[in-house]
Amino acid sequence: MNRRRWMAASAAALAGGPAMAQAQRQKQQQDTAPPGGLPLEQFQPKSMLHARESHVPRARFPLIDFHTHITFVSREDPEAVQFSMQPAECLKVMDRKNIRTMVNLTGGYGKGVRQAVHGLSEAHAGRFVVFTEPAWTKASDPGYAKTQADLIEDAHKAGARGLKVLKTLGLFLRERGTNKLVRVDDPRFDPMWEAVGALKMPVAIHTSDPEAFFLPIDRFNERWEELHAHPDWSFHGRDFPSNRELQEARRNVMRRHPRTQVVCLHVADAEDLAYVSECLDAHPNMHVDIAARIGELGRQPRAARRFFDKYQDRIVFGTDASSDPHTPQQTFGDLMYEIYYRFLETEDEYFDYAPAPVPPQGRWRISGVGLPEPVLRKVYWENAARLIGLSA
Ligand SMILES: [Zn+2]
Repeated sequence: MNRRRWMAASAAALAGGPAMAQAQRQKQQQDTAPPGGLPLEQFQPKSMLHARESHVPRARFPLIDFHTHITFVSREDPEAVQFSMQPAECLKVMDRKNIRTMVNLTGGYGKGVRQAVHGLSEAHAGRFVVFTEPAWTKASDPGYAKTQADLIEDAHKAGARGLKVLKTLGLFLRERGTNKLVRVDDPRFDPMWEAVGALKMPVAIHTSDPEAFFLPIDRFNERWEELHAHPDWSFHGRDFPSNRELQEARRNVMRRHPRTQVVCLHVADAEDLAYVSECLDAHPNMHVDIAARIGELGRQPRAARRFFDKYQDRIVFGTDASSDPHTPQQTFGDLMYEIYYRFLETEDEYFDYAPAPVPPQGRWRISGVGLPEPVLRKVYWENAARLIGLSA
């Protein structure tokens, strides 16, 4: 008998009482957890931390939500849009939360952008701004480069104030015939980037996605639950470029079109602020929004605070708000905005980044960055107002 076995045997011999207590404990555990353990989706631990809980029902200053989706291009007719939220309902939340203006990014093109402008920025002047989108279904047509530049002019005349480019470019848009993915820096878009630059329409571009979406959906993936719920969000394997290849292609666009102002959505790559900083330093026409990434910024609050300080003139407030209830970090409503305000305005620690029983983007919590008032004013209003040409 080795030393460890001998110790275990003598402990058991001594432990008439404790052995019975242990048996009882085992029985209790069986009552509360099914055999085989507690399923991850049922694990909802309550934090025992006695941390300050600030409630911020209204933003300290009026703001622009630079990143929202009130309309979408219709699935049946790519030249039309559908409203997923009613402007009158949006205005109620906006007034309660001190949101002066919402930028509806997905405004379509052609007839669609007219519908969006008519229902939003014309009907409620100053409260809504509409962006146009490229005509993706025409991208493999002969003469697309010119057609697209003309569509930008047309959308600008109709009242669109910027261009939204979904992650479609780089991850979904494929060449008709060959089925090859179209690159973000494909030269066919050069006339489009130049047209928006000339018209002072900023570009809001979403490129790539969280790094975990490019990794296997396995037990090491920190977004396992999110990817398990949305397996179509995974870009692992197949013919997808890497996250960094996509980011570098976007840099080529900013480099080639220096007078075009580009807002890289979702902090450009919120998990790698060193890389984003390098890009911001290299490209004076680059900006970022913080939409759907307070979960990333807030889990590195000291680095995030330094980032806000250094790039305070190039960060805009955005949320990615939509009516979709399946992504609670983005579901338009009072609760979502209150978390953004708490993150930006307080130094509260270890709180949920989304109004949901389980953190939807990964099982961690965030801390606030407590921005000083001058920085807060820039992020809430001034930077986006300058980009889209709104006066105070
Ligand atoms: Zn979005």
